[in-house]
Amino acid sequence: MKTSSLVKVTKAEKSKIDQVDFDNLVFGKTFTDHMFVCDFKDGQWQTPEILPYQPLTLDPSAKVFHYGQAVFEGMKAYKDTDGKVWLFRPEENYERINKSSARLQMPEFPRDFFFEGLEQLLNLDKEWIKSGQADGNALYIRPFVIASQPGVMASPSTEYKFIIICSPVQAYYTKDVKVKIADYYSRAANGGFGAAKAAGNYAGQFYPTRLVQEEGFDQVIWTDDTTHEYLEEAGTMNIFFRINDTLVTCPTSDRILDGVTRKSVIAMAEKLGITVEVRKVTVKEITEAAANGTLKESFGSGTAAVISPIGTIAYKDQVWDLEKPENCYSATIKKAILDVQYNAAEDTFGWRH
Ligand code: PMP
Repeated sequence: MKTSSLVKVTKAEKSKIDQVDFDNLVFGKTFTDHMFVCDFKDGQWQTPEILPYQPLTLDPSAKVFHYGQAVFEGMKAYKDTDGKVWLFRPEENYERINKSSARLQMPEFPRDFFFEGLEQLLNLDKEWIKSGQADGNALYIRPFVIASQPGVMASPSTEYKFIIICSPVQAYYTKDVKVKIADYYSRAANGGFGAAKAAGNYAGQFYPTRLVQEEGFDQVIWTDDTTHEYLEEAGTMNIFFRINDTLVTCPTSDRILDGVTRKSVIAMAEKLGITVEVRKVTVKEITEAAANGTLKESFGSGTAAVISPIGTIAYKDQVWDLEKPENCYSATIKKAILDVQYNAAEDTFGWRH
C-alpha cells in the first residue's frame, strides 16, 4: 500500500490487461484494473482511495436504489504518438458534475480530490490507453456519485460515494445515424433536471428510444416538452444543423445538457471560418429545409463519438435522407477536434490537460 499526499492507493495484485482483445472492444463493457472511490459521511468527503476494480457492497435500502439520487460524467483520455496521455477539457466535466450534484441535492466534490484522483488513476492504468487516432482508441472515463445511505425515507441521503471507473474504447458509431423527431414523449421539462447529467434522465429515455428503434431508427431527437415545436437534443448528443452554409444549434436551457463537445464544435467551427448561429430551431424549419434541400447536413455532438453524422431524419410519417455534401462540415470539424484531443495539432484554445 502506497500513500500519496491525498489519495490512498492499493494496487491490483495482477493486471487483467492480457485478457482483453483491444481490437474488438464493445463500448463500455471492459474496465481497467483500478477504480477511484471517495465516501461522503459525517458531513464531509473522507480520504479518497484507489482500489483494485471490484463490486460495491451497498445496503438494499440505499437511497440510490429507490430515489435515483445519482449523477455521472463522461470524458476521455487520449494517448498521442509519443505515448503521452491527454484529457480534453476535464475542468468542464468537473464543473458539470458539481452542477448536476447541486440540482439533485448532493454535496460538491473537492477539485483537488477530483484531479489528483483522476491523474493517479490514469497513471496506474495508462497501459490500458492505446494510441491510434485513426481507430479512435481512447479511455472512456466515468465519474459518478450515488446516494449510499441506508433507509427508504424519501429525503436526500447523508452519505454518498464518488467513484471513477475507466473503460478502453474505440471509435463509436461508424454508420450515419437515423433519427426521429419526438412528437409526444419528452426527455426533460421546464424547471426539471434535464440540464443535469442525472441517472434518471437516461432511464426515462429508454422506452421512447426503443419505440423508434422498432421503427428502424437509432435515436430520438428530443423536442421541448410544452409544444414539441422546438428541437433540443439527439439521444445522448447535442444537435447541429447546417442550413445552406450556416451551422445552427439551439441554446442550452434547463432541459438541455450543456455538452462539452457542443461548446468545442461551436468554437472550432468559428475558428474554421464557419458561421454559427445559436438560436431556437423549430421542427417546421428543419422539416421544410429537409424537404427543399437547404438542410445540407445534420450531426450530433458528444464525448463518445465527438461528431455523429445524421443520415436520416424522420418526423411523423415523413422521412428524409441527407446526402453527404462536398466540403462536409461534420468531417472537417471532427478531424480538427480529434487532432487537438490526440495532440496532433496546436492547442490554440488551451483544451488539453
Ligand atoms: N446530451 C446528453 C443528454 C448527453 O448525455 C450527452 C453526453 N454526455 C451530451 C448531450 C453531450 O455532452 P458531451 O459533449 O459533454 O459529452
